Amino acid sequence: MKPTGTAVDSDIQGVKMKDYPVSKQFQVKPDYNLGVCILASGSKGNAIFISSGDTSLLIDAGLSGIEIERRLRSRGLDPKDLNAILVSHEHSDHIQGVGVLSRRYKLPVYINSKTREAAVSQLGNLHDFKKFECGSMFSINDLSIHPFSISHDAEDPCGFTVNQNGTKVGIATDLGIATSMVKEHLKGCTLLILEANHDEQMLINGPYPWPVKQRVKSRTGHLSNAATKTLLNELQHDGLRHVMLAHLSETNNTPQKAVNEVARALTRCKARLEVALQDKCGALLRFK
Ligand SMILES: [Zn+2]
Ligand SMILES: [Zn+2]
Repeated sequence: MKPTGTAVDSDIQGVKMKDYPVSKQFQVKPDYNLGVCILASGSKGNAIFISSGDTSLLIDAGLSGIEIERRLRSRGLDPKDLNAILVSHEHSDHIQGVGVLSRRYKLPVYINSKTREAAVSQLGNLHDFKKFECGSMFSINDLSIHPFSISHDAEDPCGFTVNQNGTKVGIATDLGIATSMVKEHLKGCTLLILEANHDEQMLINGPYPWPVKQRVKSRTGHLSNAATKTLLNELQHDGLRHVMLAHLSETNNTPQKAVNEVARALTRCKARLEVALQDKCGALLRFK
């Protein structure tokens, strides 16, 4: 079907090319398959922007709508270019801005039934919602998305892989243990966004009440730096280019401790290792 309105053919310096509107900066087909920007990561709010150029998503929107808009714009991204929001689970650090962004930009929200039920009052009316099931792949335009179950104290929590033309991004935060199913899904990624929530000693010696420490450490809590090191050691492969450590505790971890511990896993590949922050929007990473 011929695109309506916005895209027109133009002939620049003798080369036939598409002329897209200026705001659609991702739409001039870039020389990469996926662009990824972690807008925020941690217990005060999580949101990840992923785009193929033609299709742009948010995975979780756990800051206010205004703050997510601000962070997108700080990286030259226009919230109007978003096509959908995907929700991993109902904890408020993942859904705070979902309802407002869905209504403001008329975005469908992809969410599973149990998560939607648990989040219904916080989400309010959505422009549209699309149901997915953990374990069942679906597509949004040119993006293939595979949600998979993770072990966390929510109704039906999931991680995601997003695949475009062989470039694969794997996202797993908010999980107490990395099950064999999680490992299976995260194989072969170009970019891994993995939780490195706490340093075990800092958690044990830290200020949290004992029941909260137990919850964080449990099979339905959060991954420690040491657990993430073990996971990454198994997942590393030649094609792994970048690892972002995510959902770090501000009380029970430091970026330095997380990097120092997890870096020891990367013995067989040259992936870059970085930390996603709570207060600062990450760079826009591009992957072929
Ligand atoms: Zn969380
Ligand atoms: Zn959570």
